Amino acid sequence: MWTLVLNCGSSSVKVALLNPDSGAVALTALAERLGQGGAALRLDVGGEPRAVALAGGSYPEAFAALLRELDALGLRSDVSAVGHRVVHGGETFSAPALITDVVLDAIRACSALAPLHNPANIAGIEAARTAFPDAAQVAVFDTAFHQTMPEVAYRYAVPDAWYRQHGVRRYGFHGTSHAYVAQEAARMLDRPLAELNLVTAHLGNGCSVCAVQGGRSVDTSMGLTPLEGLVMGTRSGDVDPGLHDFIARQAGLNLDQVTAALNRESGLLGVSQLSNDLRELEAAAGRGHAGARLALDVFVYRLAKAVAGMAVALGHVDGLVFTGGIGENAVAVRAATLARLGILGAGVDDSANARAVRGVSGTISAPGRLTTLVVNTNEELMIARETARTLGA
Ligand code: AMP
Repeated sequence: MWTLVLNCGSSSVKVALLNPDSGAVALTALAERLGQGGAALRLDVGGEPRAVALAGGSYPEAFAALLRELDALGLRSDVSAVGHRVVHGGETFSAPALITDVVLDAIRACSALAPLHNPANIAGIEAARTAFPDAAQVAVFDTAFHQTMPEVAYRYAVPDAWYRQHGVRRYGFHGTSHAYVAQEAARMLDRPLAELNLVTAHLGNGCSVCAVQGGRSVDTSMGLTPLEGLVMGTRSGDVDPGLHDFIARQAGLNLDQVTAALNRESGLLGVSQLSNDLRELEAAAGRGHAGARLALDVFVYRLAKAVAGMAVALGHVDGLVFTGGIGENAVAVRAATLARLGILGAGVDDSANARAVRGVSGTISAPGRLTTLVVNTNEELMIARETARTLGA
């Protein structure tokens, strides 16, 4: 039986049809530009890419096109379950949930915490329930893995009423990826996950680190929103909370404009004034572009500081894991980060580090140094597994 994994954004739907046991993938698809002109469903079946235009560009139309493809492949009746990535589960969800009307209302109630993401996730769930009326639907939350954080890690030092009345606390994100790579790291090290203290670094367009103790998140760098913590592609990560007031007055910006700039014009892009794409920055830095060099240096420095911070949550660190597009490929970023982590006993094996790119995972630390791994994340597979586990329970 196949599980359909859906990641529904405001203008896109990412789709994967896979077997949760074997990991076999029957189909991947991406519906883009929904609600805009030129919407299309891009399919990949067995390595053969194809695009279907979506004239109306709506969610139901994207699902109808997907159903036609599944029919053509004779796979529609094999879709027994649909797993949905849902960004924010607040304090309500500490595990995946079978989607019922009550659960959908609870996801809706978390929308204030993720106003851009949860409404899109909900629209996707509603469309999928109509398109696949016989399949069980499960919500897998980005925040759920971090619900094991102790209060000392998740509370901000702000007025208590903000937490009690408005849910102002640290939630953390990328939970599916952190949980998956921690499991994979334990498997690669041939050690029980329950005995391991790991720091996992998910470095993609969004970036976060997580302290994983015995397979449970005990701290992470993202907070109330995915803006906190590390420097990211276009997101600032941590800034002085006094910045908002200062820059609003100095530059004559309103709160929405400040928030938009911190989310979309900051990070690697903001510092380099060139690109949010790490590959481009590495190439430009190689040509002597000072902004690109500085952006990379700030990225690495802040990452190393955050990894060391996670060591406080763990007491001692058994291993460090790199994942995400940057973590899985950026050899120089990994080497520079480890060079700054002598305090944790880190040290790189240059040739092992150079080999761990483009889907190759493995250990990149020098003998006797902090065990450091590159692990390829697979959020779709993890969502399919969690969906199967939820339905089995
Ligand atoms: P993700 O969001 O996980 O797809 O990661 C996107 C980020 O990974 C972008 O900053 C890319 O530039 C970066 N990335 C992907 N491939 C490479 C590579 N070969 N070397 C360096 N960075 C890469």
